Amino acid sequence: MPVKILIAEDNLNNQKLLHDILHYHGYEVLMAENGKEAVRVAREERPDLICMDLQMPGIDGLTVIGMLRKDPVTKGIRIIAVTSLAMVGDREKALQAGADDYISKPFDTRELPLLIRKHLGGCEESYR
Ligand code: MN
Repeated sequence: MPVKILIAEDNLNNQKLLHDILHYHGYEVLMAENGKEAVRVAREERPDLICMDLQMPGIDGLTVIGMLRKDPVTKGIRIIAVTSLAMVGDREKALQAGADDYISKPFDTRELPLLIRKHLGGCEESYR
């Protein structure tokens, strides 16, 4: 079964970049373009991991992380927060909210897959 990764990201260019990187590495990619959608897709699809942009319209990423961690259905999903380098303190806030790790924009196309592998542990058979 392919490993499912949800990309929660409102920016079209970042959506496409993240999608292409993860698809290339063999993951099944789900998309959500705002916080509300991210919560819905996380509950319905139970992805193995979520790349969570912190700055999204409506419900922001930090709030979404908190909501997912409080919900028994989604609390075990691994979450990598996607932060902007300019936002000092976001990384700490993301970890406090319950994110497992963080990565900064602009993305390093090699760093992200490595980080994902690290957090998926033994369930990355689809990686190639
Ligand atoms: Mn954003």
